Amino acid sequence: MFTQHHTAHWGRWREVGDRVFVRRNKTLDVNAGLVLGDDRCLVIDTRGSEREGLELYRAVRSITGLPHVVALTHSHFDHCFGTAVFAENQPDCEIWAHERAHADLATNGLQQRVEIASWLRESGEEVLAGELDAVRVTPPNRTMAADATIDLGGRQVVLHHPGRGHTDNDMVVEVPDADVTFVGDLLEQGAPPSFDHAYPLDWAPTLTRLLERVGSVIVPGHGDVVDPRFLMRQCAQIAEVADLARRLPSHLDDTDLEWHASRLAVGDQAGLIALRRAQEHLAELAQL
Ligand SMILES: [Zn+2]
Repeated sequence: MFTQHHTAHWGRWREVGDRVFVRRNKTLDVNAGLVLGDDRCLVIDTRGSEREGLELYRAVRSITGLPHVVALTHSHFDHCFGTAVFAENQPDCEIWAHERAHADLATNGLQQRVEIASWLRESGEEVLAGELDAVRVTPPNRTMAADATIDLGGRQVVLHHPGRGHTDNDMVVEVPDADVTFVGDLLEQGAPPSFDHAYPLDWAPTLTRLLERVGSVIVPGHGDVVDPRFLMRQCAQIAEVADLARRLPSHLDDTDLEWHASRLAVGDQAGLIALRRAQEHLAELAQL
């Protein structure tokens, strides 16, 4: 998970469209975005701790002095635990996310912090774990359910929820005049899709709908910038998981599930989590 590659990319802004920037960050290879308008700028995702958020904030200020708006692609810590820095540096700061991201952070944010800190400690990442302990979880103060538009002055950015996928609160950020779409962890480059809180049966249909709207430049939540063909490929891999889950008997033991998972294109580890999630979901549907 902490494998490092393409070290030349870390911590530098790259302009991927007219006044649209992406910064790949070393921790977890997570991306942050920056969109400049005439009056305001939009920061997309705030990284995984306040130290990391402060580093990102300073990087934003190296590009622009414009007042900032924040958009959070979903409620996972590595995308939103740096938010407090952006809030405290601008008291009226708008922080946008899906309404279920708000609910998740408001209800489970501290629990997530505790769980991630202990996971980091078990992984030997004591310094990062200490940073997690100090995070002031900051839920959004503006929410959307399906669509919202943010006016940055001279350009508009669209926030859109295409359906459940990586989580139930994924929000994509579309910059139509630059043909760029930030999709959060609905796509990951350089790592398998992450299924821990996913809806594997819904995810591929969500990506299929998203394909109709995305620009030619797609910024995933982690890794390098991709294109619509990458979206189609990862969509097919996720559809394979859902198809297999529907065909399997409902109460397979772990050994059988592992064997089936090892044949999936997403890989055995992601596949096992995905199959378990899909089976839970199918069991819920069967009870309705
Ligand atoms: Zn995530």
